[in-house]
Amino acid sequence: MPGTTAWVLGDQLSADNAALDGADRVLLVQSAAALRARRFHRQKLHLILVAMRHFADDLRARGQQVELIRADDLESGLAQHRRRHRPARVRLLAPKTASGRARLGSLPGVELVPCNLFLTDPAEFARWAAGRRRLVMEDFYRRQRRRLGLLMDGGDPAGGRWNFDRENRKPPPARARPPRPYRPREGGHDEAVRGELDAARLPTWGDDGPRLWPASRDEAERALARFTERALPNFGPYQDAMLGGERTMWHSLLSSSLNLGLLSPLECAQAAEIAYRERGAPLASVEGFIRQIIGWREYIWCMYWHLNDLWPAMNALGARAPLPAVLEHGETEMRCLAAAVGGVRETAYAHHIERLMLFGNLVLLCGTEPQKALDWFHRAFIDGYEWVMAPNVLGMATWADGGRMMTKPYAASGRYVERMSDHCAQCAYSPGVRIGDRACPYTTLYWDFLARNRAQLERSRRMTMVLRNLERLDPDEAAEISHRARALREHFDA
Ligand SMILES: Cc1cc2nc3c(=O)[nH]c(=O)nc-3n(C[C@H](O)[C@H](O)[C@H](O)COP(=O)(O)OP(=O)(O)OC[C@H]3O[C@@H](n4cnc5c(N)ncnc54)[C@H](O)[C@@H]3O)c2cc1C
Repeated sequence: MPGTTAWVLGDQLSADNAALDGADRVLLVQSAAALRARRFHRQKLHLILVAMRHFADDLRARGQQVELIRADDLESGLAQHRRRHRPARVRLLAPKTASGRARLGSLPGVELVPCNLFLTDPAEFARWAAGRRRLVMEDFYRRQRRRLGLLMDGGDPAGGRWNFDRENRKPPPARARPPRPYRPREGGHDEAVRGELDAARLPTWGDDGPRLWPASRDEAERALARFTERALPNFGPYQDAMLGGERTMWHSLLSSSLNLGLLSPLECAQAAEIAYRERGAPLASVEGFIRQIIGWREYIWCMYWHLNDLWPAMNALGARAPLPAVLEHGETEMRCLAAAVGGVRETAYAHHIERLMLFGNLVLLCGTEPQKALDWFHRAFIDGYEWVMAPNVLGMATWADGGRMMTKPYAASGRYVERMSDHCAQCAYSPGVRIGDRACPYTTLYWDFLARNRAQLERSRRMTMVLRNLERLDPDEAAEISHRARALREHFDA
């Protein structure tokens, strides 16, 4: 289409981006306002800026005209482009957030093209959801498997089962040797971006480079191949396990590439299926990974839109506390938390169970205001974007949605960490102790959380047993728990 500009945002860096179809020019805008919007992890800003440059290079290599503009904000970047090239029309893939769609979709002459970077249309999800009492991920996932024909033998699931939870989710192995993950080699764009970020003196968080995360299609393909060859076979059994000395375990480390658009969810799921069909990768691991990609990730994308208007005000438990400062500085004698916060500062990454059961659990138990928790997750993680953070932080981790996504909060005492990691054996605290100096803070805060939120929790049938245990607590011990929990919350804030 002559005179058509395809405008591509920093998280739409896919050659399949539908806005590119037939465009005779591509526009990328590096917005100073977006870089300053929050105190982002330095590595996150670095990755996005380098990835935009690689995307421009890849398009140019295919003969495309590309303009990458540095501007104060997106709108002024577009205005500069218009002045220079006078395009007849500007096509933009619908942004992945409601606020982005409202803001950029209302610009005169900008045509939004339906987003084709996911496997599921949120409108189709809404039809599936209509009339259902609960939107259970497992039901959604089985439908996805059938619909997409992934890991199916005719009409049946491969291996005759949908779910391998029994084989998966084991504690860490005694002598763990996770494979070394793919790490890219830095190039000219890294050097240039590092210089620009230094010069801009942005208020960032976390340590700088060397860059650990794929920034180009080529690097992302290598990361996917490395994962399916080396880590996938053990992904299933140890996906919930934590080890002090091992940051990445057998996880895929593909979320930043998926969220930037460098990889498609379908190719990731298909690569895992090929590993099962052609290279004998264990079915339980392959199913576990495919479940994350076509199940959890797509469910989260659809839930973001399904509860769209509700996210900003959600706070079912009336939580009002500030963000525990320990999440910023990581200084604590809790071995698990110190290691995980240190890991995020160094790499902008923590795996799912660290996010849910260490960070999420901490903010839940401390009664942190959900939006404050959301802001921290959004700033600190390499793969953090509003559409994926809102359901994960507000729905899954802090139960701010009052149970729309999860039937009960993911609240846990130190016993969970003890079972699923090697942290507790060398920690100053003891996970089985509720009060006193050796009591694990997670354990004290857990019992205090149950007592403080009892009225709301009673509405969940799955909490009945736990609340019965709370009733059995000796009143003096209950008072001491409450006292110590208050002191702990102050301590985490210091
Ligand atoms: C509190 C909290 C915050 C989170 N924030 C983010 C975030 O900002 N960005 C993000 O991409 N994921 C987020 N997740 C989901 C999940 O923790 C990460 O996708 C995962 O840890 C990324 O590491 P990985 O690529 O090694 O994942 P793996 O463990 O290897 O999993 C494979 C892939 O499955 C997908 N996936 C699995 N679970 C989820 C999920 N719940 N939501 C979305 N995708 C999922 C991811 O794309 C991931 O790359 C969050 C989870 C929690 C509990």
